Amino acid sequence: MKPQVLIVGGGISGLSTAWWLAQQGVAVEIWESAPRAGGKIRSHREDGYLTEDAAALLVNFRPQVDQMITDLALNRHKHLRDENLKRYIVHHDRLTHVPMLLPALLTSSLWSLPAKLRLMVEPFIPRGAHTGESVSEFIRRRLGREILDTAMDAFVSGTLASDPDLAEAQSVLPRLTALEQRYGSLSMGMFINRVVKRRRANTADTFSFTKGMEQLLQALANSPGIHIRTGTTATRIQQEEDSWQVQGETHGSPTEVRIPQLVLSTPADTSSQLLYPMDAELGELLAGIEYAPVGVMHLGIASSAIQHRLDGTGFLVARHNRLAINGNLWMSTLFPHRAPPGKALLSSYLGGVRHPEQLQKSDEQLADEVLDSLRPLMKITGQPDYIRVRRHLQGLPLYHGQYRARLARIASRVQAMPGLELNANYIGGVSVRERIYQGQRTAQDIAARLHCNTRNRHPQQILVS
Ligand SMILES: Cc1cc2nc3c(=O)[nH]c(=O)nc-3n(C[C@H](O)[C@H](O)[C@H](O)COP(=O)(O)OP(=O)(O)OC[C@H]3O[C@@H](n4cnc5c(N)ncnc54)[C@H](O)[C@@H]3O)c2cc1C
Repeated sequence: MKPQVLIVGGGISGLSTAWWLAQQGVAVEIWESAPRAGGKIRSHREDGYLTEDAAALLVNFRPQVDQMITDLALNRHKHLRDENLKRYIVHHDRLTHVPMLLPALLTSSLWSLPAKLRLMVEPFIPRGAHTGESVSEFIRRRLGREILDTAMDAFVSGTLASDPDLAEAQSVLPRLTALEQRYGSLSMGMFINRVVKRRRANTADTFSFTKGMEQLLQALANSPGIHIRTGTTATRIQQEEDSWQVQGETHGSPTEVRIPQLVLSTPADTSSQLLYPMDAELGELLAGIEYAPVGVMHLGIASSAIQHRLDGTGFLVARHNRLAINGNLWMSTLFPHRAPPGKALLSSYLGGVRHPEQLQKSDEQLADEVLDSLRPLMKITGQPDYIRVRRHLQGLPLYHGQYRARLARIASRVQAMPGLELNANYIGGVSVRERIYQGQRTAQDIAARLHCNTRNRHPQQILVS
């Protein structure tokens, strides 16, 4: 079957869109410039350690993700995180346990009495967001400065590589801001959802797979109905009457295709370069999306050399702690077979908006800095026997500034180009969960258009020439 849709970019965004389309009987081709599909996500087994280049785990509350994993027959390969594992945060130079339930939060040593009293008045604070409100403004307004400085700063920097003063609250905390809009209060909204409506959306499964996150990407790439051309880079696109002409290079040779539906699942700067010749304003809007460099350093070390109990998922670091790392995952505690027997695998997240210069440093320099941060916190005495560093110069899009307004302007310009869709991690969330969800939404739109066109025209007319 000839493809009806071309997707440029074979990361999780492109692959999930392709998979949802294939589920609806739409044939898809993917052009991926790298020699393999998967984009930033890659799992690497070496010396008995299984490490991740990018996403280390999937935090899920969406039925679409469950459906995909079931249909791909991956449930038996799924490794769930033990929900009893502790979550830690660095507080006064120590790892401090963060309770996950409200009553325990109120008795925790993490916050002062005024901060706890401030938390208790949250339900009585009126709504008050302004357009483009930052995470810092939102959290300070609803929960107080101390919660921002100790917890939310660590979350936004550690998991999103972003700056809470610049990141737009509605873009990076959509569920929290929706609770305020809907119920007028975060705590009341959580209570109503959890206790009254018994919503699953408040609980999440966190998991990876036997062979790491890449197992999901490989299963998607090998699905029927998806044809992937690796080593193929799109270099130019042009809109024609009712199709798109896409030119590219495959292993040094020119290639070209005409296709009714085109999806760009590339980073924003690549999409900008491809679209600029047709719409300079769209090109500039995309080029203006900032990315942070992000690195991950994996250290393998004898468990006996770590005195802190490895009884948690790892820890996050708020900026006032001035440590070289933004967060650390205890991968060998989270999932089985990540390290050889008797060893622990600790994965530290580096760079981001806090330390963009870090990615220029050598592996040796980085290892020294990471160990200097980890040693006092985890009481590490020995030396690591395994070190692996991955650097992503364009690691994560930042969702800074009036981001929703930017995306709305991008969407309105794309709407004027029938048959074009943008679906990558600068729209709708960076997590694997949201990429899968957004993939389904994009696929639904395309399938609806294709079926509508098929009803209105002779089918031959919409197939690739
Ligand atoms: C260090 C790190 C840790 C992370 N941890 C987590 C985590 O634990 N959990 C989680 O849910 N998320 C995590 N994320 C986020 C998540 O991994 C990414 O947001 C997601 O993988 C991005 O997918 P994507 O398909 O949008 O982009 P990419 O993976 O960047 O894919 C884009 C693809 O487009 C291709 N391409 C570019 N230009 C062209 C062209 N002209 N022609 C053809 N192909 C082209 C590229 O080669 C690439 O394969 C992490 C990210 C990083 C960097």
